[in-house]
Amino acid sequence: MTKQGRYKQSGEQSKKHVHVSENGHTGNKSGCPISKKCGGCQYIDKSYAEQLKIKTDQVKKLLAPYGSVDEIIGMKEPYHYRNKVNAAFQHKRNGEILAGVYEEGTHRVLSVDDCKIENRLAQEIVETIRGLLRSFKITVYNEDSGYGLLRHVMIRTGHATGEVMVVLVTASPIFPSKKNFAKALVKAHPQITTIVQNINDKDTSMVLGERNQVLYGRGFIEDKLCGKTFKISPTSFYQVNPVQTELLYNKAMEYANLTGEEVVVDAYCGTGTIGIVASDHAKQVIGVELNKAAAKDAITNVKRNECKNVRIYDGDAGKFMVGMAEAGTDVDVVFLDPPRSGSTPEFFDSVCKLAPKRIVYISCGPESLARDLKYLKSKRMYQVEKIALVDLFPWTEHCETVVLLSQRKADDYVEVELELDELDVTSAESKATYAEIKDYVLKEHGLKVSNLYISQVKRKCGIEVGENYNLPKSEDSRQPQCPEEKEKAIKDALEHFGMI
Ligand code: SAH
Repeated sequence: MTKQGRYKQSGEQSKKHVHVSENGHTGNKSGCPISKKCGGCQYIDKSYAEQLKIKTDQVKKLLAPYGSVDEIIGMKEPYHYRNKVNAAFQHKRNGEILAGVYEEGTHRVLSVDDCKIENRLAQEIVETIRGLLRSFKITVYNEDSGYGLLRHVMIRTGHATGEVMVVLVTASPIFPSKKNFAKALVKAHPQITTIVQNINDKDTSMVLGERNQVLYGRGFIEDKLCGKTFKISPTSFYQVNPVQTELLYNKAMEYANLTGEEVVVDAYCGTGTIGIVASDHAKQVIGVELNKAAAKDAITNVKRNECKNVRIYDGDAGKFMVGMAEAGTDVDVVFLDPPRSGSTPEFFDSVCKLAPKRIVYISCGPESLARDLKYLKSKRMYQVEKIALVDLFPWTEHCETVVLLSQRKADDYVEVELELDELDVTSAESKATYAEIKDYVLKEHGLKVSNLYISQVKRKCGIEVGENYNLPKSEDSRQPQCPEEKEKAIKDALEHFGMI
C-alpha cells in the first residue's frame, strides 16, 4: 500500500503525508509549492486527462494477454477527495509553530497552505489547532529530542454523514486542560462530532499509538457506502476516496451479477465493506481477513447493518480457502481484494477446487494482478470477461482495477487427448469414422490398420482429409507407407461405406 492506498491506520507511517498547494507561489508547473519535497502526488504536473490516459495505458499493457480494458472511470471533481488528513507540527527557532507534512526522509516539517487532494475542512481544523496550541501552552513533540506533547493530528471525515473525528496524538497521557482544548476546538468547528486523544509514547515513525481516550463525542464516526453504514474508529481501515469507492463497489457488484441465491466469498475483506454491500443480493456471504482489528471492525459493521447472512472469519485467505475446498463448501461467487502484493497460488488452487461460477478480482497492484491472472490462466478453468479501471487516487500513479472471470464450460478446459484424425471431419469422412473403417477391415479382412494408413488411402482416392492430418512434422521426417494388402482392404471399406 502506498500513501494514497490502503494502508492500515495503525501501521501508517508519519512520513507519508500528501499536501499540495494550488497557489502556485513557486512557479513550478504543478502550482504546488511543496510537491517535489512532499512526493505524494507523482502526477501533479499532468492534466487530469493525461493522468487517466497514463493509468489506462499502463494497465492495458500489463493485461493485454487477458482481455480488453474498458474506459477508465475517472473522478468528476478530482480534488479534496481524501477523507483522512494527517498533520505534524514543529517549533521554528523564532517560536512560530509550523503545521504540515514531513519533508520526505527528514523530520523537517513543511508548512502547507492548501492541498489539492485533502478534505478542506480537515485542513482548516489543522490550522485552528495550530493557532490554539500557544494559548493552551501545548508543546509540540520533537522527533529528535523526544520532548514535547503533541505528535500528530489526524482528521477523518464521513463524506456521506458529514461526521468529523479529530485524533490528537500525544507523546504522553498527561494532557493538561484537554477538555477545555476540545471545547475550544468544537466551538471553532461545530462540525466536529468526536475528539479522541491517542497516546503514542514509542520511539516510532508510526502515527498512532495503541491507547485511545475519548475527549468528546462517541470516539468514532460513521460513513455510508452504497447505502450501508460503516464505523470508522481512529485505527480502522477505510478507503480514502469514498466517492470513487462507491463506483468501484458498484462495478464489482455489476460483475458479480448476484440474484439472491448465491453463496459469496469476500476474501481480504478488510472491514467487511464489499461483503456487506453484496449481502442484500446474496444468500450467504463469508468474509475472511488476516488483520484481527479489521476483522473485528467487520463484525461490528455486520451487526450495525443487521446483516443476518454475513459471517466474518479472521485468518489467512489462502489457508481459509484450502479449508473451504476440503470441506467441499458450495461457493458461487468469489470476490477478492488483496493488498498490493496480490494473492497466492494456494488461494487460486483452492478457488479452482471450489469452482465458483464467477471471480471478481479487485486490485490496487496491476503488476501482481497480471501475475495472478497468468497463474489462473494456466489452470485453464476461468476466462477473463471484463476489465474495468476506477481512479481512486487522482494526482498519484495509483489506480484500482476490477476483473470479472467466469468459469469456462467443462468441454473447453478439460484436457482431452484427441488424436488429430478425430478432428478430421470432412464431408466424406463424416460418412464413416476411422474407428468404423478399422472395425470393418478387421472383421472382413482380418487386418489391423492404423489411422495413418487410412488417411494415406483416402488421400490416394481423392478424399479430402483435414489440412494438418498426419502430415509429417518436418520436411525430412519419414512415415511408413501403407502396404498393398492393407490398401486394398481399406479401399474395400471406403466402397462399403459409399465414400468412393
Ligand atoms: N476489501 C476491503 C479491504 C481491502 S485491503 C476494502 O475494500 O476496504 C486488503 C486487505 O487484505 C487488508 O485489510 C489486509 O489486512 C488484508 N490481508 C492482507 N493479507 C491477507 C491475507 N493473507 N489473508 C487475508 N487478508 C489479508
